[in-house]
Amino acid sequence: MEKGMATYKKILVAVDLSPEARSVLARACEIRAHYRAVLYLIHVVEPIVLGGDYELVPVMPVEIEETLLQRAKGYLGALAGEMNVADAPQVVEVGSVKHEILRFAEEQGCDLIVIGAHGRHGVATLLGSTANAVLHGTKCDVLCVRLGE
Ligand code: AMP
Repeated sequence: MEKGMATYKKILVAVDLSPEARSVLARACEIRAHYRAVLYLIHVVEPIVLGGDYELVPVMPVEIEETLLQRAKGYLGALAGEMNVADAPQVVEVGSVKHEILRFAEEQGCDLIVIGAHGRHGVATLLGSTANAVLHGTKCDVLCVRLGE
């Protein structure tokens, strides 16, 4: 490897439940193999938000949360197996997607976040809200995998 080139040791890939998650994970797997890095898979379950007159209240009945967590864990495990990275640590968090991705990356000292980015119209939404928020909220490198329109 050339002197001065980035060497990634801990990569975090953000996986949603869409079919496009495979493309994002596939790219992260390539980078993991290239750098022989540790790859963490994260999926965030967002609480249902009820809007009152004055504030938004996150609510998640325990049974629903448990069902969603189990479903997400099963999905991540199956996806990781399918992509031959079943040994990669899989993390499911509850909260705001961008906040949990940033928090986990910071806590684990990740040096690269791989995330999907939709090509929506207009510069402001070019990256999509999640990718945009992550890109601007971290000091580590971010790879935005371009997804379909
Ligand atoms: P979005 O622009 O919000 O449709 O999502 C863009 C990317 O953000 C996805 O391709 C994922 O990499 C990531 N992402 C979105 N939702 C989640 C989620 N619930 N958990 C983990 N990553 C997510």
